[in-house]
Amino acid sequence: METSLFVVPTPIGNLDDITLRAISVLRDVQVVLAEDTRTSGKLLKHLDIQKPLWSYHIFNEHKKVDEIVAKMKEGQRFALVSDAGTPAISDPGYLLVKACLDAGIKIECLPGPTAFVPALVKSGLPTDRFVFEGFLPHKKGRKTRLEILSQEKRTIVLYESPHRILKALDQFIDHFGPDRPASISRELSKKFEETVNGTLLGLKTHFTSHTIKGEFVVVIGGAN
Ligand code: SAM
Repeated sequence: METSLFVVPTPIGNLDDITLRAISVLRDVQVVLAEDTRTSGKLLKHLDIQKPLWSYHIFNEHKKVDEIVAKMKEGQRFALVSDAGTPAISDPGYLLVKACLDAGIKIECLPGPTAFVPALVKSGLPTDRFVFEGFLPHKKGRKTRLEILSQEKRTIVLYESPHRILKALDQFIDHFGPDRPASISRELSKKFEETVNGTLLGLKTHFTSHTIKGEFVVVIGGAN
């Protein structure tokens, strides 16, 4: 059976972080499904690839899935990309993958860039067992989630936005304690990449007096 959906990871900062296979798949498919057609258009232009780009994001995915699956059944090959990193990892993708599998359509996911792996590895915290929590709920359910996570023994990996990071660190200190080992990586693969390792309190002190810019991954050691 031919593959109809290729999930294609794209760079999280450094444009060189695209695999040779990702490039050849993007060249080969008939349509690229993109979270933001302008962002992916720039990447395709950089790679010198011209392809029809269809918009596919959290606000239209429920509406689009059936149409895409129908086209796949007619023999069209699609690549799914998000703005950065691996689709379906805190990005649209899950719904389409599930719909393809339910319809008996063959999918492939190329290995490639994603922000949480380099952040976890650079944290120096145990990598043998970890939980990926993506973005915590902003309001409803956040406190409950933090209470559950405070008992978690595995390393915890979270995504957080720059404008919420200081408040989030205060909440982490409240739930996990100030001395819990932790790490923050920002601007991974970019010019101003920075990883700060220490305790939750140490990170709060650091980021209170340093730049809070870029995208952040937070890694927290598990409970003893
Ligand atoms: N699909 C992406 C992946 O595979 O990592 C994640 C997309 S999610 C919408 C965006 C979040 O990923 C950011 O808020 C940040 O937490 C993290 N992120 C993405 N790029 C990053 C980078 N270069 N450095 C640090 N964190 C990054």
